Amino acid sequence: MIYHLGLLGFPLSHSISPSIHLAALRSTGLVGDYKLYPLQKGSSFEYLLTRMRKGEIHGLNVTIPHKQSMLSHVDLLSHTVRMTGAVNTLLMREGQLVGDNTDVAGFMTDLHEKIGGTVSRRKALVLGAGGAARAVVIGLLSTGWHVVVSARQSFQARQLVEQLKPWSREGYLQSVYLDPIDLNAEIDQCDLLVNATSAGMASQLLIDPLPLAIDLPNDLVLYDLIYNPQETLLMQRFRKEGKLAYNGLGMLIEQAARSFELWTGLPVSREELWKAVGNLR
Ligand code: NAP
Repeated sequence: MIYHLGLLGFPLSHSISPSIHLAALRSTGLVGDYKLYPLQKGSSFEYLLTRMRKGEIHGLNVTIPHKQSMLSHVDLLSHTVRMTGAVNTLLMREGQLVGDNTDVAGFMTDLHEKIGGTVSRRKALVLGAGGAARAVVIGLLSTGWHVVVSARQSFQARQLVEQLKPWSREGYLQSVYLDPIDLNAEIDQCDLLVNATSAGMASQLLIDPLPLAIDLPNDLVLYDLIYNPQETLLMQRFRKEGKLAYNGLGMLIEQAARSFELWTGLPVSREELWKAVGNLR
């Protein structure tokens, strides 16, 4: 069998997912390809779903800007998708097109590997209110973290909190305005900051999503979901102050490995995937 896999989203020109999945194919001894389908917001992607239903494509990843709109195009939603409201993986199961989300486990596995049991308060400030922020918030809540969400459009943070409240224990999830006074009060009690915005990506390289007037507490650790560039402006700010800052490459690899395992049923060596991206740790 030849595995036809791919990624649907826009923009995709800098995607390193093909390198990761081709390494996964090689390391598991399977034959196949991983194609990019650059489709902008509003473009029809139905033809790709039809090809999946016909068995011509065996698995697709979904990224910005289709993660949320994909929900209404599939036959079945995994429990993780019902919680997050975002799809990043499409697969066929018993003739049905299933929307799944491997970002949650991808983030939590890598976070655990990076910070393990070193944090004590287990309270996180999450910047952003898009699909990735939802995955992060669900992952943190389900492992007992307190979470505060902040977004430049505050209504989006409030909306996210309302939608994810059913999965939260009372008092564990709230939103805060992205302004220095409110943020300084909250961040003081946090031991983790997660950047789940696109600010700092190649297309927004010189943008720091956290206002400069925020004082970073001594033991605050940054997990920036961005992996291109390897070091964002926000990560530089943390490292200049001697604080720990991690990029999102580990999450990317882990979510990719989990998607691949769903498509093929075979376990993938993470080490081989790291080699494929040149160990950009
Ligand atoms: P999304 O659904 O488009 O959400 C992006 C969020 O970032 C929105 O809340 C948006 O606010 C906010 N934002 C954009 N530019 C901003 C700026 N200059 N200042 C403050 N906020 C800004 O995208 P997503 O899927 O959640 O992805 C977010 C980031 O996570 C991307 O960089 C993506 O590459 C990364 N990601 C990484 C992984 C990984 O495996 N490492 C997985 C998934 C996502 P507005 O609505 O106001 O624009």
